[in-house]
Amino acid sequence: MTASGRRPLVSGNWKMHKDHLETIHTCSELGLRLGRGAVGAVDVSIHPPFTDLRSAQSVIEAEGVPVSLGAQNCATADSGAFTGEVSAVMLARLRVEYVIVGHSERRTMFGEDDEVVAAKLQAVFRNGMVPICCVGEHADERDAGRTTERLQAQITQALGRLAPGEVARMVIAYEPVWAIGSGQPATPEDAQEAAATIRGRVTELAGAAAASGVRILYGGSVGPDSASPLVSMPDVDGLLVGGASLDPGTFTEIVGGAAATVR
Ligand code: PEP
Repeated sequence: MTASGRRPLVSGNWKMHKDHLETIHTCSELGLRLGRGAVGAVDVSIHPPFTDLRSAQSVIEAEGVPVSLGAQNCATADSGAFTGEVSAVMLARLRVEYVIVGHSERRTMFGEDDEVVAAKLQAVFRNGMVPICCVGEHADERDAGRTTERLQAQITQALGRLAPGEVARMVIAYEPVWAIGSGQPATPEDAQEAAATIRGRVTELAGAAAASGVRILYGGSVGPDSASPLVSMPDVDGLLVGGASLDPGTFTEIVGGAAATVR
């Protein structure tokens, strides 16, 4: 546990990488590597593509891999005529525990606005899972000094339909869009400032208890070297890792870096 009392979470977003056979291999490898490390100090989730979830679930359960299963997205509705969509009901049946909602790639490339994000957060909670809600500013917003304003607006929209008890259990990922896939993470100080802004807005909207429970991750070009300094920050409770989560060895190093911050 950290000084904040919040248990760190390290989540690997595999995006559109790995077929189900590669996923089986990666999960087994993760089991071997994480089993030897300090994974007990932190929660870990992996988020493979939809087509890999059943295979990942089987390996995680059969081999006791110490990770939770996660998804990258879900539909707003639980069922119906929505060709190509995957519902939160279906994910819950596969024992998915965490669902990423509102990733910047979904917002930018697939037109997900704050209204859709809010409906997806409700769908995840309605089905007993935990959302990882992504927020973050674009480079031009940052350059214009509008980071705080942007984060506050996104948090206000995201939390609008949630009860304080749900907010306390959710995860928010601060992912500056300019850092994602750039090879250049935000500094720990910048990540802390943004995380504190987010927690402050959560306090205003849902109260102090919710704000002290919500876990805030940093995401954007995290690697083995940046993991520990980022999670050492008082309001940064873990990491959302994209590219560096694909290799089990690198991901294990990142988990180890986060675990090193736990006393
Ligand atoms: C992401 O897209 O969620 C992410 C953090 O990607 P990367 O680590 O590759 O920057």
